[in-house]
Amino acid sequence: MADDLPARLERVRARIEAAARLTGRDIEDICLVAVAKTRSASEIRAMAAAGVTDIGENYLQEALEKQRELADLDLTWHFIGALQSNKTRAVAEHFDWVHSVDRLRTLRRLAAQRPADLAPLNVCLQVNLDDESSKAGLAPEAVAEVVEAARAWPNIALRGLMALPAPRIDTSSQREPFRRLAALALELEQRCGVALDVLSMGMSDDLEAAVAEGATHIRVGTALFGPRPVQSPNPVSDEDPNHDI
Ligand SMILES: *Cc1c(COP(=O)(O)O)cnc(C)c1O
Repeated sequence: MADDLPARLERVRARIEAAARLTGRDIEDICLVAVAKTRSASEIRAMAAAGVTDIGENYLQEALEKQRELADLDLTWHFIGALQSNKTRAVAEHFDWVHSVDRLRTLRRLAAQRPADLAPLNVCLQVNLDDESSKAGLAPEAVAEVVEAARAWPNIALRGLMALPAPRIDTSSQREPFRRLAALALELEQRCGVALDVLSMGMSDDLEAAVAEGATHIRVGTALFGPRPVQSPNPVSDEDPNHDI
């Protein structure tokens, strides 16, 4: 219900503020990305009216339709979903950020396809921290090679790392994989001599743990928009609506 959105947003902001205060972090350093998969353009419009500036989308066709409807708004669009090769061109043309790059080949395609008249595409490399074969993401030991390669492409701004750890029960166990992601980013900065200033981590159920471990971008869906419908509203989509949910 669009009417509930401002109240939900207030609650999420209060959670971020409380977690930031506990760990002495500045909330200005934490970007809230509203994850709008399966939600309508009018719900996004209501979020934007309440002050949200950054929108995350998983499904390309659905996202492109909403972008067309919302072209009058000044929003920053983040692609956070599984990124098959046949989607890289549209993502390179229509998004400001991609959080879910998990192979060198994808990055190479995005670099080749990013239009020259747009700002460099902001990219995070998705890391598989739980060694789950079912989950997307680079193995931690495979990230350095991609970081090195990214230097060659001026229209790619490699910003940092992203993770989607398996659910864990309490805040202290949730913090453990986020801590490893932060440590990996630091290690790569030193080893490769690059700045990786972005940690995209934390969702509705674990954002406090992520903020405590240094998240700069938290990707929140359910806590902002309410529970998602089980089925994607887009019946022609070739994408699995349950991927990564
Ligand atoms: C759906 C999704 C989210 C948001 O999850 P919630 O639990 O609804 O907050 C964040 N990141 C990714 C990659 C997602 O697919």
